[in-house]
Amino acid sequence: QTIGQNLDATIARFGDREALVECATGRRWTYAELGEAVDELARALMARGLRAGERIGIWSPNCAEWTLLQYATAKVGAVLVNVNPAYREHELQFVVNQSQMRWLVSAIKHKTSDYRRMVEKVRSGCPGLEEVVYLGDESWDTLLGAADEVDAAALAARGAELSADDAINIQYTSGTTGFPKGATLSHHNILNNGFFVGERVHYTEEDRICLPVPFYHCFGMVMGNLAATSHGACMVIPAPSFEPAATLRAVSEEKCTSLYGVPTMFIAELGLIDKGEKEFDLSHLRTGIMAGSPCPAEIMRRVMNEMNMSEVAICYGMTETSPVSLMTATDDDVRQRTETVGRVMPHVEVKIVDPATQRPVRRGQPGELCTRGYSVMLGYWDQPEKTAEAIDEARWMHTGDLAVMDEDGYVTITGRMKDMVIRGGENIYPREIEEFLYGHPSVQDVQVIGVPDEKYGEELMAWIITRQGADPLDADAVREFCTGKLAHYKIPRYVHVVEEFPMTVTGKVRKVDMREQALEILG
Ligand code: ATP
Ligand code: MG
Repeated sequence: QTIGQNLDATIARFGDREALVECATGRRWTYAELGEAVDELARALMARGLRAGERIGIWSPNCAEWTLLQYATAKVGAVLVNVNPAYREHELQFVVNQSQMRWLVSAIKHKTSDYRRMVEKVRSGCPGLEEVVYLGDESWDTLLGAADEVDAAALAARGAELSADDAINIQYTSGTTGFPKGATLSHHNILNNGFFVGERVHYTEEDRICLPVPFYHCFGMVMGNLAATSHGACMVIPAPSFEPAATLRAVSEEKCTSLYGVPTMFIAELGLIDKGEKEFDLSHLRTGIMAGSPCPAEIMRRVMNEMNMSEVAICYGMTETSPVSLMTATDDDVRQRTETVGRVMPHVEVKIVDPATQRPVRRGQPGELCTRGYSVMLGYWDQPEKTAEAIDEARWMHTGDLAVMDEDGYVTITGRMKDMVIRGGENIYPREIEEFLYGHPSVQDVQVIGVPDEKYGEELMAWIITRQGADPLDADAVREFCTGKLAHYKIPRYVHVVEEFPMTVTGKVRKVDMREQALEILG
């Protein structure tokens, strides 16, 4: 099945149910209305000459048109290129040229980002970019006006020519560890992944999913949109970009049953609930997904108990694998659902190998996580050498993440290979120390990195955001808290209290930036 065929099947079953709500404007669509809007846009794109396989970019914070375009481009078989809304001119220009983009649909302005000005600035440096349409001005209306030139039969004929194995999407990775790479994905890759994610949290047409996570990223467009539309559930867009209050308001007012977020989003929401200034009605919540970076067990427990999300799941994945390859399930026990990323997804294989020998390690031993199956991307766009480094001849994707699998198949992610700290010959997984420090009553959020040290090679530094109104923290207090409970070499030598961490727009902490800043701090 292609994404278009799957959407049409859902519309046929659930046409009168709500499909999409945009809280910022109050606009709403049933599945039948969504289908009409998607087809109108698809016919307009065809009328304006968009061909199958051609790249069309979308550069915008979350909005309903993002979703409409996602499905319209899938219907005409064009390759949607997700452009990170936090990018600046030079990054935009890079992505436009790297993906050989012919079309760009862009927002006009959001907060401090003047998208139109940035697009106009780089246009002369993007010779292949022929068409630019701005969301919400006359260029968008003109585009839609062309829809009448192509009829439904022509769109259906285009749909019949497409194959589920065609490339449909280029998603750039978050850029947590370096410059983003464009993962090329097919209908088959992402539609199946969205479906199986939805299945593991038991989505039905009764579910209403609150999506504060960016659509440009797989968390929003696959685990959010495609999981919703493949099960007939409703997509609720709380705000163009993440705001904790707007998110909880959307959950209340739209009676959401499911809420998504990276850990830092849930931490911010819990902080807001803690403050108790506003009342939020979380009584309809049942489930949700936390993913994207290490999910602290303590935060998972608080989300289950304080946010009424008893069935909340953790997903592990990466853009290159559509994304999810491991996920917890409702009937796992609480430890499995808070301290592991669950078990393998249907039709996906995982193995953990010794990075030195590439041989599988024993259960309980750490190594590099590798995954294989339908979900592995077609490759990095126009970067065959990078693809060959990541995917081996047997089609195993090497994730660069360190993991341990227990006897029952539950996997714990112990960190990224690039973040592992080696102090005096001991391998240290910062994750373990972060988990421990979350138990300190003054700690709201914590990240641990390695910094260079003459004697030991590396030393540990903890960056801490303290809870509102909590006692101040210094290195001595932290060390005292750890003494006797952590091995001496795992106790952070340095403590740095901050208001926030350097982040990607997907809400991931950029440890590369922290390591750089640490060098300055330590002189
Ligand atoms: P880049 O590859 O550009 O450096 P990135 O790896 O952060 O950025 P994504 O594809 O968005 O880009 O994220 C995938 C990574 O996120 C995984 O490789 C893993 O390190 C991390 N991750 C995702 N889910 C989890 C999870 N549940 N627990 C721990 N880590 C996770
Ligand atoms: Mg990555």
